Amino acid sequence: ALRETRGELPGPNRTQDRTAPAAAPRGVDEPFAGEPDTDPALPANRAWGRAALVRATTSTAGIESDADAPTDSAGVDALVERVRAAGTVWGTRPAAERAALLETAASALAAGRDRLIEVSASETGKTIAEADPEISEAIDFARYYARQALGLESVDGARFEPVALTLVVGPWNFPVAIPFGGVAAALAAGSAVILKAAPQARRTAAVVCELLWAAGVPRDLVALADVPEDETGKALITHESIDRVILTGSFETAELFRSWNPRLPLMAETSGKNAVIVTPAADLDIAVAETVRSAFGHAGQKCSAASLVVLVGSLEKSDRFTAQLIDAVTSLRVGPADSPLTQMGPLVEEPGEKLLGALTRLEPGEKWLVEPRRVNDSLWTPGVKTGVRRGSAFHRTEYFGPVLGVMTAPTLADAISIVNETDFGLTSGLFTQDPAELAQWLQSVEAGNLYVNRATTGAIVERQPFGGWKRSSVGAGTKAGGPSYLAALGDWRDAPTVR
Ligand code: GLU
Repeated sequence: ALRETRGELPGPNRTQDRTAPAAAPRGVDEPFAGEPDTDPALPANRAWGRAALVRATTSTAGIESDADAPTDSAGVDALVERVRAAGTVWGTRPAAERAALLETAASALAAGRDRLIEVSASETGKTIAEADPEISEAIDFARYYARQALGLESVDGARFEPVALTLVVGPWNFPVAIPFGGVAAALAAGSAVILKAAPQARRTAAVVCELLWAAGVPRDLVALADVPEDETGKALITHESIDRVILTGSFETAELFRSWNPRLPLMAETSGKNAVIVTPAADLDIAVAETVRSAFGHAGQKCSAASLVVLVGSLEKSDRFTAQLIDAVTSLRVGPADSPLTQMGPLVEEPGEKLLGALTRLEPGEKWLVEPRRVNDSLWTPGVKTGVRRGSAFHRTEYFGPVLGVMTAPTLADAISIVNETDFGLTSGLFTQDPAELAQWLQSVEAGNLYVNRATTGAIVERQPFGGWKRSSVGAGTKAGGPSYLAALGDWRDAPTVR
């Protein structure tokens, strides 16, 4: 069985006590190593985490932010011009200088880990167990892209030319790692950045930027734009002086942007309708635990989350998997994000019509194994339904919430067809101990990130570059946290031939 925890990486500091002084950062010339998550087994860390969560209940962090807040297109023009000017200079700086700034940014985020957890818990309902690895991921992005920047300048006789200005449009579900990952990549590639946070996560973005600015990242190089989602927002997103737009959001949002400007230089990581397959050759204990993690981590609000589990062959008839699944799901502790006991916290906001339908209605042939229950406005208990039919709405729609559907298939080949019959292809999982089944699945499954005997969520920078196929990606489909991401953020010119 594979177990993925960052603590097992050959890092400098396996079980970090957050109350002890931080280890000296590795030099940029040293190989990349993932930042360890906070180890909750250490009593000092538990006290540290509880304190952050207590502060989260009254947190006003990020409210008084120094964001730029243009209210019309003239204000947008002025902002774009200012940041673009900084980008023009930044693009001429040597890669080593860009890498050094990213190392500074990584240390600033590491030092601000508790503030970041506090604000994302209070603003978006992330539990500490979900928020903590996200901070590690953000730090990893900075350090990984710093190293990538050093190798960017000449590849196969072509020369990399930075662009001046990148716009990052962030999501609310990973309010630290994903917006910051875009910012870090752009800086590494020699571009200035305007960050436009999701409305549900602006305070968290403000704290990220405050930490960067306080550490010496110039405000004109990384600007935070607080723009309303109206004509002013549209003026920013479609501004012709923006060279790249990095979006993480739904496929519909990417389509909307494209409808505004079909030539928008968009790189978007979009929706998923992800499934795991469990075969009779699986270790069922692992399959159940990791399926639950895939489906209900952050209440299913991840584009990597699994919302379907396909049981193969004899598992269809035996109720062993489903009985264990019901047990595991009904014993999840559901509660407020600011309690350290909570395993599944609230939704970011009250469910919209689409998700509400999935939480409250059944389609023909379906039956609840665990019926979801509304505890209060945005807090729901998890749901599991069985009898999901091939081609039904539930089979094909992304709901982005805590509801998992069970499907069955006579053979692995049928299960793979079911998985491939959606418009998306972001993550996919297989639980088996049979190498022949693994080979068959790898041959034909259509998704960007494939996981075996492990949850479909929680991709780790450098080890599992993240990005999808089909409608899970729009524009240049390169993977975040992987070796080709920075290259897509600039232009390439033939290098002059020297004879
Ligand atoms: N990278 C995240 C993961 O692997 C998912 C990102 C997203 O939900 O947008 O779980």
